[in-house]
Order: sequence, then structure tokens, then C-alpha cells
Amino acid sequence: MGLKVLKFGGSSVADALQLAKLKNIVEADPDNRYVIVSAPGKRFGGDNKVTDLLYMCKAQLDHNIPADQLFQVITDRYSAVEMNLELSIDLRSRYDEIRENMQKGCSTDYLVSRGEYLSAILTAAYLGYDFVDTTGLILFDQKGRLMEEETNQALAAELSKHERAVLPGFYGTNASDGKIHTFSRGGSDITGALVARAVKADVYENWTDVSGLLMADPRIVENPRPIHRISYMELRELSYMGANVLHESAVFPARKANIPINIRNTNHPEDPGTVITAYPEVEDGKIISGIAGNKDFTVIAIYKNMLNSEIGFIRRLLTLLEDMNISIEHIPTGIDTVSLVISDKVLDGRIDDVVAAIQRQLEPDNIDVYNNISLIATVGRGMSYKPGVSARLFSALAENDINIRMIDQGSSEINIIVGVATEDFEKAIRAIYHAFA
Ligand code: ASP
Repeated sequence: MGLKVLKFGGSSVADALQLAKLKNIVEADPDNRYVIVSAPGKRFGGDNKVTDLLYMCKAQLDHNIPADQLFQVITDRYSAVEMNLELSIDLRSRYDEIRENMQKGCSTDYLVSRGEYLSAILTAAYLGYDFVDTTGLILFDQKGRLMEEETNQALAAELSKHERAVLPGFYGTNASDGKIHTFSRGGSDITGALVARAVKADVYENWTDVSGLLMADPRIVENPRPIHRISYMELRELSYMGANVLHESAVFPARKANIPINIRNTNHPEDPGTVITAYPEVEDGKIISGIAGNKDFTVIAIYKNMLNSEIGFIRRLLTLLEDMNISIEHIPTGIDTVSLVISDKVLDGRIDDVVAAIQRQLEPDNIDVYNNISLIATVGRGMSYKPGVSARLFSALAENDINIRMIDQGSSEINIIVGVATEDFEKAIRAIYHAFA
């Protein structure tokens, strides 16, 4: 007998109808033993995610605006599901407890985690599975960093006592003070991966509302082809660059334990979705797996004569940036030039300060700043050791009159990153897609 861990995202637990689909999926295979759920998501366009509503509750409380009405909207959603599924759980006492904690001035992490908490209690009752809370099992250190090994042991020990269980995604506890701590948004994916690792699952199924990954953003490329198989490394590159089907940190635990991740669609369970493993076979003739990109970067190009022989230049440059708490995306270098590609979010309006500091401390001959740069990653394990791939990519861009402002190819040869003017972003993605798809 095998063992599967299934994580269902917000849209898969949005209402009673979706939960009925979830139940069908879980009950179709006795190997489906551990289920992780998000908080209820949107039921229709214009609807709200419960997590967003909880963040709003907290904002109101922080501004001394009563949040009772808003909290009632949230509890009504759970109560409607409870009624429609003909369950009888004592949700009222849980609501009261949360209300009480709200009055006492609870933390944001506590309040927003209640979306997953109530969702898991409800789902467990509906499936007839044990409810296992993640407090005391998913552990964070004082700085909010996940304590991976401790978490793995705690989850494994607890889940060995439960044949079948539902766990809430998104949160755990701070090991030093026992308070609730959440992952970043979309973090239930990470919970699912951690559970999969802890119970040594054969597969981690991540159920969402799309049938896996597509080769490009469908808002940019019409009808992009689905990706059936992809490696952990490629997925990591694509998610980092904006393909957001799975939380970027969800890959690590699964990869460590070599557990395949299968992205599936709750609304179309017949679709095979995307399977992510360490070394999937390359489909015949397939060179690239996907294209993703991010807007809003700034390039700072620094010129200095004889820069290549000046010992310590790059170290001093990096120290300067570290002191300003600025992380860098890429550092393309030439003989007498070095460029920094930095996201505008990280720069946060400090470009003049950065340039002034470089000027002062490194005395370069010249500094140029290019705004409105977008980065596009073309990712594919089929690219490595294949001559002519970059030529094809660059020709496609040239034929479409797109000027390349930066090129970076990692040593793994599975990713070519180009920087283009943001106004060319969509056009460039389409050009690359059509050159390879
Ligand atoms: N409910 C949380 C969010 O909306 C976490 C998750 O769904 O994964 O970000």
C-alpha cells in the first residue's frame, strides 16, 4: 500500500460544493491518508478570500474600529458549509474563543491563521479524519525561520499516531514563545510539503483550480501548452520568476525527500496535471519547459578603467549593498564594467542613495542607471549541452525588434535570463514562446 499527502487550496475548500469534490477525490483512493487545507478562497469573481478578510479584521481592530460585523461575515461562511454538509461540530465555541482573543489584542499571525484552523476542523469532520493542529508541530525560531529538522521529527512523531488526518496549512508555532507564526501568503503549500516529507509520502498532490503549470502566462500567450513533467530545479526557477502555481518554498522539503509533487485540478480530477520530480525524462524534441518573468527592476551599470585587475572591488561593492540591506538579483560583469540588477521593491526609492554611496566609496569613472527593466527567464532542462539555443532565443527577440539589455545564464545551463525594457515585456515572452513551443 502507498501513502499520499493531498493539499487543497482555497478555491478547493471555498464552499460545500467544492468540499464535496474534495471528498470524492480523497475517498477515491485508500492511500489518501493526510490532507492539508487552506482557508476558504473566492467562490466567484468579486468574492473575498477568508484570509484577506481576517487581515482586514486585524487592520480594523488596530485602528479601533469594531470588527464584529466583518468577523460575522467570516463565521457565516463556515456555518453555511457546516449546514449544507449536514455536519454538527461545535464551531460556535471556536468562534467565541477567537472573538475573545481578538478583544484581548491577539497578534496578526494568530488571527489570520484561524482561517485554516476552522477550515481543517470542518474538513476533518466531513471526511471522518482526525483533526491534527500544527501548533507545536511546525516550528519556527525566534527570527521566524522554519526549523526544518525539528518540524520533520515533530510531525513524523505525531502523525504516526493518526492513520488518517486533516491538518491546517499556513501556520505553526514559534518554538521560543509558543505563539502562532504563519508562513508568507500561499504558505499552505509548504505545510503540505513538510507533511509529505515527514510521513515519507509516495507523492505530494497539490490540488488547485488549474490543471498544472502552463509553459507561459495565459494572459500573455494565447493557449500556452501545459507542462506535463518538470524538474524541481526548473520549477524553482520558474516560480522565483513569477510563475505562481506553487509557493516557491514548497519545493525544498519534497526535493529533499525525493517526493514527486503532482499539481492537480479539483474541478477536473481526470486531468493528469504536472508532475515535478528530480530528473524527469525530456520529452522528445522539447527544449524549453517554460517561460516566466518579472517586471520592475533597475540596472546600475558601473564603469571603471582597469576594474578587472582592481582587487577587492566587487567585495567592497557587495559590502556596501549589504550595509544598505539591499539584495541583488544578478551581477553581470564585463572587463571594466559591473552591473547590478536590483528589484525596485528592494530599492524602495533609495536609488540616489545607492548611487551616491557607490560614487563615494568606489570612485568609478561612470555610473549609468536604467529604469523600467523586466527580466524574463527561459527555463528548460532540454537546453543544457544543446548548441544553438541562445542563438534561437536572441534571433527571436531581434526579429521582433526587442533590444536585450542584459543576459545571464547560470552554470546549470537550464535557465537563460534576459533583461528587456518593460514596454517590451509581453512581446518578448510571446516571441520566445513561439520560437520554441
Ligand atoms: N490562506 C493563506 C493565504 O491566502 C495561505 C494559503 O492559502 O496557502 O495566503
